[in-house]
Amino acid sequence: MSSSTPPVIHWFRRDLRILDNTGLLKASRERRPVIPAYIVSDWSGSHNWTGAKRQHFLCESLKSLNRNLETIDGRLIVRGGEAVDALLTLAEESGANAIFFNRDPDPFGKATEHRLQDACKERGIECRGFHDHTLHTAEEILTQSDQPYRVYTPYSKNWLGRDKPEPGGKPKALRTPASLDSDPLPSLDHWSIELPEDCSILPAGERAAHDRLKRLINERVESYADLRDVPSADGTSRLSQDLRFGLISIRTVYQKLDKARQSAAPSARESLQTYVKELAWREFYMAILHHYPHVLEQEFMADWRGLPWDEPGDDFEAWKRGETGFPIVDAGIRELLTTGFMHNRVRMIVAMFLTKDLHIDWRLGESFFMQHLVDGEIASNNGGWQWSAGTGADAAPYFRIQNPWSQSKRHDPDGKYIKRWIPELKDIPAKRLHSPPEGNEPLAKGYPLPCVDHSTERAETLTRFKRHRQQG
Ligand code: FAD
Repeated sequence: MSSSTPPVIHWFRRDLRILDNTGLLKASRERRPVIPAYIVSDWSGSHNWTGAKRQHFLCESLKSLNRNLETIDGRLIVRGGEAVDALLTLAEESGANAIFFNRDPDPFGKATEHRLQDACKERGIECRGFHDHTLHTAEEILTQSDQPYRVYTPYSKNWLGRDKPEPGGKPKALRTPASLDSDPLPSLDHWSIELPEDCSILPAGERAAHDRLKRLINERVESYADLRDVPSADGTSRLSQDLRFGLISIRTVYQKLDKARQSAAPSARESLQTYVKELAWREFYMAILHHYPHVLEQEFMADWRGLPWDEPGDDFEAWKRGETGFPIVDAGIRELLTTGFMHNRVRMIVAMFLTKDLHIDWRLGESFFMQHLVDGEIASNNGGWQWSAGTGADAAPYFRIQNPWSQSKRHDPDGKYIKRWIPELKDIPAKRLHSPPEGNEPLAKGYPLPCVDHSTERAETLTRFKRHRQQG
């Protein structure tokens, strides 16, 4: 190969790893130098689609990616600005005549890809996008009449019954040209934001993600089915941010689980299957977003568009601070504010409380979660919010309204989770945490009284939904 062989750019996005990265592997097999590139967006903090915790995790993941690239004779070339412009400038500077990337599952990412493809075509640059992010594409899992599924259970049956793709390997040598300039790896200063004090976020990077997968297989998966709904138990995989940023490939996760399944006892096998079904939820919501991109603005179910929501006021502010007086709700929000994570069961309780007890538009909750979740992922977050609000892709009707008090009693009976996140309540007997305090006396000094009465607000929600249907 001559030194004048034009390089190929691999544009990193939600695939911040070197192992089993479809686009990177294809680029490395082109037998020419590879330029691994990351384009840092100029998000100014005024948008509400991300926040310091997720950006911190991104920065740490990029550091780790750069170190990993160095082990295969590569170097991350960082540029700032609008992605298409930055990539074209990089191609011009480096003489690259091809840009590879893994396709993004969300509509904003897809729009950028289309712009890039058009611009490359005009300039005679090869531009190739690869499927990487899910085990099955949204177009692969369709009903018998080739329609997208609107409900999870039949989707998951189809999804579970298919052969799954195997992971690929790791590129041998990228030979990134030494002469190329790179901006420094980004830090939170780039966006003029900082992590709140006392924030504690999981370690980022490919190695950390593989460690979490190992711990899942060795320690958690057998008890997953029993413990996944117990927020105090640390019984879930904690892989969501790793899948969100592509620190580990979904094919690797699936392959390791499948291998574990082969040697597992029957009861453990069932638990493994429960876990795999969660991975199908992730792909179900990505398929919903792919086929019905309007869900980002509107209710998935047309019947519920235009439902009346209350103006957000003091109760919304109290919800955002974890001060509603409903311990399980407040514990969830405080976990989120401190760690950028909230347990799945609690996400459902917190989201249903906002929409069905406070009557606040799910879009406001969705956006608040996107600003705080490290795993904030547009399809899963939208799906989770619309499911909780009763407007989404769900077989259950709107009148499923969970009672936060009984949910709390059922999933945190000894109050361990609540006490971990609300120190004011640490000395309160557990049974008092699962019902409104008697005699209008606060549960503890400094902890507020419940901001609403659940039965009254439940009835109000039912009235609103019924009236809307009658008027519609
Ligand atoms: P595990 O229980 O170990 O599950 C394994 C993996 O399966 C997860 O990492 C995730 O990739 C996937 N998964 C599990 N449950 C779901 C689900 N209900 N929907 C989609 N995928 C799922 N998940 C996100 O990744 N990003 C989000 O922004 C997000 N927002 C949510 C908002 C609401 C209101 C709700 C109810 C759920 C949301 N979820 C979201 C889904 C779920 O809460 C998280 O994926 C899960 O809590 C992550 O923890 P884990 O990795 O330990 O999960």
